[in-house]
Amino acid sequence: MSRVYNFSAGPAAIPDSVLERIRNDIPDWNGAGMSVMEVSHRSARFVEVVEKAEQDLRELLELPDNYSVLFPQGGATMQFAMVPLNLSADGDMVDYVLTGSWSRKAIAEAGRYCNVNIVADSSDRNLTYVPAEGTWQRSDKAAYLHYCANETIGGVEFPFVPDAGDKPLVSDMSSTILSRPLDVSKFGVIYAGAQKNIGPAGITLVIIRKDLLGRARAITPGLLDYATYDNSSSMSNTPPCFTWYVASLVFEDLKVQGGLKVVAERNRSKAARLYEAIDESGFFSNPVQKDCRSWMNVPFTLREPLLDAEFLSQAELAGLANLKGHRSVGGMRASIYNAMPESGIDALIDFMQEFERTHG
Ligand code: PMP
Repeated sequence: MSRVYNFSAGPAAIPDSVLERIRNDIPDWNGAGMSVMEVSHRSARFVEVVEKAEQDLRELLELPDNYSVLFPQGGATMQFAMVPLNLSADGDMVDYVLTGSWSRKAIAEAGRYCNVNIVADSSDRNLTYVPAEGTWQRSDKAAYLHYCANETIGGVEFPFVPDAGDKPLVSDMSSTILSRPLDVSKFGVIYAGAQKNIGPAGITLVIIRKDLLGRARAITPGLLDYATYDNSSSMSNTPPCFTWYVASLVFEDLKVQGGLKVVAERNRSKAARLYEAIDESGFFSNPVQKDCRSWMNVPFTLREPLLDAEFLSQAELAGLANLKGHRSVGGMRASIYNAMPESGIDALIDFMQEFERTHG
């Protein structure tokens, strides 16, 4: 077996130790005589998995008791609709911060149900920074404040948690959740698609303050109502059992590694080394304002874009996969989620330095 370093933004690398567990479990999971993909989601064996998954997640994030953990499907994109349908009434005003492609998509979806007030917009500098909170134009009437904590495409991460006052703070944390400790008590709703730091695509993590449940608009389909998931332990219909089981293994693995403080220190150091290598070279560059640079997604460009294809093909040959930047911005992007080992950062930096030496 030969594994490459996978720098994909998502679906992204899964820890080797978790893959090994899955491989062992596939034919005969937990003495069931069948794989986890074949067991009933109502079986005691499976219910034990999901209860442990929630317990481990609660421990990792030190979740207060007044928060529910839900696992809908539909990805983070479905949350773009569920948030306004559950937290606002027809015609309400809602506040959104625009810092990149994903917050822009969330705004477009919310605009179908509400009046969106864009409190701040970083398009004036090509979505490369987070506007200072003091400059935001909040609406007194807004039902909630939404922001994307880490813009996966632009590699822009909020260096602070916004202060929403007495309004619910809602955050798309798809590409930063579990990368470090988090004070959940500041939030009304946190959501994240699984396919970066949680597991395979197909499940979504929603953490919601309990007083925000049961407020969905009357027209909301049952499966888009947060209360449906809360009332049924996220099993009102057949859940993606395999994905949920892998997520449970990832949570367990994070605990074995020592929890989110340990993980955060490693992530901070991985990102710092990569940015340092980029900044020190005269050949690679990253456009993001330094205090907003993402720990998880590191976009960079080559001084000579004509060399992009050569860089990518040589990287593939060197076992460094999926470094192509998003089609909307071009260049390169190294996504270095929790499962990217430090040796992957070393290999990428060595490769970049050698490429610069031979092509610079
Ligand atoms: N928000 C962010 C920050 C993302 O990175 C993504 C996916 N890359 C999405 C939303 C959309 O997620 P999904 O594909 O799970 O709907």
